Amino acid sequence: MPVQYVSTRGAAPVLDFADALLVGLATDGGLYVPKSWPQMGDGGSGSYVETAVEVMAPFVAGSIDPDSFAEMVSDAYSGFEADDVAPLVDLGGGLHLMELFHGPTLAFKDIALQLVGRLFDYELTRRGERVTIVGATSGDTGSAAIEACRDRQSVDIVILHPAGRVTEVQRRQMTTVQSSNVHNVALDGTFDDCQDMVKAMFADEPFRTRLNLSAVNSINWARVMAQVVYYVVAAERLGGRCQAVDFAVPTGNFGNVFAGHVARLSGLNVPKLIVGSNRNDILPRFFRDGRLDARPVIPTLSPSMDIQISSNLERLLFELEDRDGAAVARLLRTFREKGSTEISERLHGRLVEGWASARFDDDQVLMCIAEEADKSGIVLDPHSAVGVLAARACRPDPAVPVVALATAHPAKFPDAVEKATGVRPVLPDRLSDLLDRSERMTNLPNDLSEVETFVEEHVRAV
Ligand SMILES: *Cc1c(COP(=O)(O)O)cnc(C)c1O
Repeated sequence: MPVQYVSTRGAAPVLDFADALLVGLATDGGLYVPKSWPQMGDGGSGSYVETAVEVMAPFVAGSIDPDSFAEMVSDAYSGFEADDVAPLVDLGGGLHLMELFHGPTLAFKDIALQLVGRLFDYELTRRGERVTIVGATSGDTGSAAIEACRDRQSVDIVILHPAGRVTEVQRRQMTTVQSSNVHNVALDGTFDDCQDMVKAMFADEPFRTRLNLSAVNSINWARVMAQVVYYVVAAERLGGRCQAVDFAVPTGNFGNVFAGHVARLSGLNVPKLIVGSNRNDILPRFFRDGRLDARPVIPTLSPSMDIQISSNLERLLFELEDRDGAAVARLLRTFREKGSTEISERLHGRLVEGWASARFDDDQVLMCIAEEADKSGIVLDPHSAVGVLAARACRPDPAVPVVALATAHPAKFPDAVEKATGVRPVLPDRLSDLLDRSERMTNLPNDLSEVETFVEEHVRAV
């Protein structure tokens, strides 16, 4: 009997893993979660890949062939250039840093996307189908998605970025990929224009169907699943799965920290999950008051966390509401209509037990990067610094070790890091010639029919 996935809004078909993978968003607008949480065994002290296969197996059971799955997991992490995928660095005083940025694009999103790209290809090939993945990026997500999909047989990928508005390193991480199934569009407009363009393509029903449009965005359950693994690995390295460990997570869309909650629901001993935010602090305000209250997005030094509506929070609300999809749907309808909503005192009480949160502004981030570089020689990127600040500020029990998740390599955000430390961080060797590689991209006007024509002429799904 395959594991079943249900929607957080309770009104979409129940699916198995592979269908939930390919659909992404449920038809009722909800997000897929397993019908019940599998419980982990005691585990051992295996390699990252061994633990990954074991931890994820119950989530794909009955849907993906176990041997093929193990092969995909092994393959996904073979390109990570670090000691056993995600090194754990001791910062002293019970604080540890887990480096999740040693994948191809130097951010933690590679950990999920490297696997998800392979899973997509595997399942589509098995079904004899092909998809066209389209996405908009303000910088980082695009390159992680491109690296995940490059050279995959059943997938073509088109990524739109705002022309002249991403950094050179970010652009080159996308445009220097020479695979024939990768297409970069530099759109004459802003990031919002790119996002609107993607939405317009999805809303064009005949186009959407003809090209079999799809997305690999952060609401996809498979991305959360792949992120559960490193919480377990961290605990194993610190003494075992029964060892109490708190985690501090720099948070945007809530996908990363929710994976920690899944690890906890599956039996890992995590007394506190600590959410770190920048000035876009809807989550710390929610944890404090039980009110979700959206405000305009403020640009900060940690752009991947410049988010007001954290899509994966819906999965936590579903748990808090005792899996009452209709209640979640009501709550989110109010939020969408009024820009704010509230949970009951009873639910808020529950939320306070296992969670802590705090927000930090750019000055605190710069100071943290400078201090850490000075003290330990470890150079943090601005996102990881938010995690370290949150770990220090919110640690409830000094006897319990805390792991701060480092989500990006400092060389991805060289300006901020140089401002803090006076030293410009260098790219790892394998990317050191990035600025000399040749680029492939197409400049297009902000015009739906021109973009659709480009997509249609360049992908294989038609
Ligand atoms: C995406 C991202 C985050 C936020 O992760 P969520 O899962 O969206 O909460 C944090 N740091 C970096 C570097 C990222 O790329």
